[in-house]
Amino acid sequence: MDDNRRQHPPPKRVVVCGGGIIGVCTAYFLAKKGAEVTLIERSSIAGAASGKAGAFLALHMCDDGPLSSLARASFGLHCSLAEELDGPQSYGYRPLTTLTISVGESELPSKSSILPSWVDGRVKTGEIIGTTETTAQIHPQLFTHALLAKAVTEYGVQVVTAKVEGIAVEKEGVVVKVDGGGVIGGDAVVLALGPWTSKLPELSSIVRVYGKKVHSVVLEPRDGDAITPHALFATYYPAHGMGPIDSDFFPRPTRDVYICGPSVEVETPDGSESVFPDPESVQILKSVAGIVSSYLAKNNVTVKSEEAGLMPCTDDELPVMGEIPGMKRCYVASGHGYWGILFGPASGVAMAELVLDGHATIVDLDCFSPTRFTAKKV
Ligand SMILES: Cc1cc2nc3c(=O)[nH]c(=O)nc-3n(C[C@H](O)[C@H](O)[C@H](O)COP(=O)(O)OP(=O)(O)OC[C@H]3O[C@@H](n4cnc5c(N)ncnc54)[C@H](O)[C@@H]3O)c2cc1C
Repeated sequence: MDDNRRQHPPPKRVVVCGGGIIGVCTAYFLAKKGAEVTLIERSSIAGAASGKAGAFLALHMCDDGPLSSLARASFGLHCSLAEELDGPQSYGYRPLTTLTISVGESELPSKSSILPSWVDGRVKTGEIIGTTETTAQIHPQLFTHALLAKAVTEYGVQVVTAKVEGIAVEKEGVVVKVDGGGVIGGDAVVLALGPWTSKLPELSSIVRVYGKKVHSVVLEPRDGDAITPHALFATYYPAHGMGPIDSDFFPRPTRDVYICGPSVEVETPDGSESVFPDPESVQILKSVAGIVSSYLAKNNVTVKSEEAGLMPCTDDELPVMGEIPGMKRCYVASGHGYWGILFGPASGVAMAELVLDGHATIVDLDCFSPTRFTAKKV
């Protein structure tokens, strides 16, 4: 049960560790509910997956499973935050139509009426899987920065640059140990360290959160006006050898097209600065782009970025959100996998409720509790 109803007075000072979307949303909603919040980030805000994601949002794509209510609540919160923070202007919030397509060198160009005109390559139509009512996008780094700016200016969140090295529960509260021997104290702590979560000694034997590397490119087409707000989930069937390769196309309001590719589990390096793209994976994304659309072919685009990010994943593909077993007032919020940008706001509200009120009402956190891992070991 996450129903950790209060025996102590509610925490006033909360330390949130990790400045990705999950940490920033948690800090924002904690501070909005009245807590004094310190956010600790070792390098840059949204410098890891939270700045490199496609940031596609869907109301219904997690339906029929334990993630459905988290997805639905968070999609709604993204809509209301976009109004509050002028999302269309400040971080590229916009509704999209979403299609699946299959792509192959042996396909003939499709003339289907559901395909936008810029999808003029060797593509076979799939289906419309999202409308402007059910799918949308943001720019993840701009969103995270916009939310943090409001958290700082309106709700007094303090941001500290330091590497968290450990946590300890003491009689008077919790202590976060940072590099250089410093400590930051509070009444409660939330660890939102993405794929670095299990690197913390206190968590390594309790939860396994690991990184899956995903590559992305951002292409600026010469004829950007032709690119309409249609997201594409493409499956590419190479002519020889390899099996199918999935890639996702998210045109942005800035006229750029963001494309990201399949994921592979990798060793999590010490920091996000050490996550580098592999040239071969980047080349595959650029080649698929040219097969999907002549507007995205090599000679018709400027390559604006080639990146890789680590999605924080768990073995059962569910986030880990709850109090850490055996550590009172220490919480974890991580492992949000492919949908962390979508899940950010509702995860932030849920964690703020859990920490300050003793239980979450926005979503039922029971199935995300870290106790599911410790229970299996007994
Ligand atoms: C290429 C790609 C495409 C994606 N596309 C989508 C999408 O379309 N839609 C969607 O919903 N999601 C998408 N995701 C998933 C989403 O980006 C992640 O689930 C989400 O960003 C995870 O956020 P986080 O805050 O948990 O982790 P992170 O973004 O990894 O943030 C963790 C932060 O903790 C900091 N940190 C780590 N260790 C320490 C320490 N010891 N001390 C202090 N700070 C520390 C890190 O520096 C980092 O800033 C995508 C991910 C990738 C990689």
